[in-house]
Amino acid sequence: MELELDLLIVGHGITGANLHLRAKQEGLTCAIFDLPEENQSSSVAVGLFHPMAFRDSKFAWAGKEVFDEALSFYKNIETDEPFIQELILYRVLESTEEHNRWRARMEEPPYKEVLDFSARMDAIEAPFGLGKLRSCAKLNVANFIAKSITSLTEGHYFQEAFNYEALDAENGNFKTKGLSIQAKHIIFCEGLGVRKNPFFSHLPFHPAKGDLLKLRLGHDLKAAVNKKDFIAPSEDGLYWLGATYDNKATEALPDEGAAKALLESAKSFYADKIVPLEHLAGIRPASYDRRPFVGSHHKYPKLSVLNGMGSKACLLAPHLSNLLLKSLQGEKEIPPEMALDRVERYLKKKAD
Ligand SMILES: Cc1cc2nc3c(=O)[nH]c(=O)nc-3n(C[C@H](O)[C@H](O)[C@H](O)COP(=O)(O)OP(=O)(O)OC[C@H]3O[C@@H](n4cnc5c(N)ncnc54)[C@H](O)[C@@H]3O)c2cc1C
Repeated sequence: MELELDLLIVGHGITGANLHLRAKQEGLTCAIFDLPEENQSSSVAVGLFHPMAFRDSKFAWAGKEVFDEALSFYKNIETDEPFIQELILYRVLESTEEHNRWRARMEEPPYKEVLDFSARMDAIEAPFGLGKLRSCAKLNVANFIAKSITSLTEGHYFQEAFNYEALDAENGNFKTKGLSIQAKHIIFCEGLGVRKNPFFSHLPFHPAKGDLLKLRLGHDLKAAVNKKDFIAPSEDGLYWLGATYDNKATEALPDEGAAKALLESAKSFYADKIVPLEHLAGIRPASYDRRPFVGSHHKYPKLSVLNGMGSKACLLAPHLSNLLLKSLQGEKEIPPEMALDRVERYLKKKAD
């Protein structure tokens, strides 16, 4: 088979699926290589996203605009198989200081329309009050990834390991037995699998393991609730409780200690029956400086990377896919905090 394409995408978790569906909107032709059975954090991601950094009661680095862009992107491409649900998120305020900070933020223009206080909520203990966030949504990750696969031209999805040795990095030609792909750009979205990629294995990650429990709750909350950890509704009427953040663990194995810590954390704000049903774990592809890796290889401009999503793939991937595609078309520049030059500088400084 011989293919001539705009994009060859390697890796099809939340990031690769976003990139593909965004490229499709732009009328670009794509093929995808993916190994779903490899460690991929997308298979355990709850799919929750919002723009807040609760520690400071303000928008996080990729804040409200990126949230709005993600929500509108997911809504626009949603068809018969739904994958996006808007939610209210309640924040259990942890101190008088946080309560006062939340109140002050509510008066500021960018926050006015999304932050509020809530009256008490059944089964939730919140002695310092309950903040209410209107900008929150949940992506059904499995349905979204499935949608990306069914939107591909037949025969353009290769469920196999990408053979880096079969790639001519200079001219973008990929050739193995019986298959030849000529692509304008090859974009790597392999999550932590990038560590085996000879062109981008130098990218510095600080991977962070997360444990997650599926629960049956005595009281149906019908919303997401956040304190140290979050409880969020699942599509099957059950709830997710998660997720721990451990950057020492190297294997994605469910850990009893983490499950115990999660249940303790939930009991500190949820006062009804909790029945744990399932325990999952995965490793987040978090970068060394908590900013994503976006851009092209310094020596091989046909090769690019989109990675380092950490805990925020659902929020960041729609915006970053758009940004990368626009930069490849020469229409936008990658902001310095995400560009690959910063990595070269960081590695050089570390080596000196
Ligand atoms: C417990 C837990 C809960 C989480 N909850 C949320 C949440 O609620 N919201 C949120 O936004 N984020 C959440 N995250 C984070 C989220 O999971 C990650 O940000 C996201 O999955 C990263 O997606 P990715 O596509 O970049 O990488 P991955 O999911 O790792 O996907 C990479 C894909 O590339 C493939 N691949 C790698 N190498 C090759 C190769 N050589 N050839 C072919 N294929 C290859 C892999 O097999 C994989 O399928 C959570 C993470 C954990 C651990």
